[in-house]
Amino acid sequence: MADAIIDKDYYKDYVCSFFSDNIGKPMDKIHDTNNWCGAGKMIAIDAAGTFYPCIRFAQYSLRDKKAIIIGDINKGINQNLLRPFLSLDRCTQSSQKCIDCEVASGCSWHQAENYDAAQTNTIYQRSTAICKMHKARVRANNYYWNKLYRKLKTKRTE
Ligand code: SF4
Repeated sequence: MADAIIDKDYYKDYVCSFFSDNIGKPMDKIHDTNNWCGAGKMIAIDAAGTFYPCIRFAQYSLRDKKAIIIGDINKGINQNLLRPFLSLDRCTQSSQKCIDCEVASGCSWHQAENYDAAQTNTIYQRSTAICKMHKARVRANNYYWNKLYRKLKTKRTE
């Protein structure tokens, strides 16, 4: 795909979201206290009026775990049930391998997928099923940007 986009000059008129020059770098420490997703700071409501931290925590979205319900349209949000979500950030849920990872930028996680894939009922165990795919994407990006910069540099010096 990188070859086609660059060789046929598609990059001039189109953007392919697979390729971003922001991904594949170590994470800046200023992001250590950020979370990737908004679960716990937003609300999702099903047709019965039940509230969830995200629709992915509803029973029909989960593979193995029980739904996490935080209230309903009659009783409102139970703030106490949101407590576990308050201290979620990159470091509280990642393994040391991910915290120190040299290509971590752009490697995302999803709170309910973490919960669904975890060995216990925790939301604090980051799923790394994406790991090989992210690293492959980073390598493809290195190829793409190198090739594009070389082409543009060659054109400027022609
Ligand atoms: S899942 Fe893999 S690529 Fe992503 S931050 Fe962790 S070690 Fe790095």
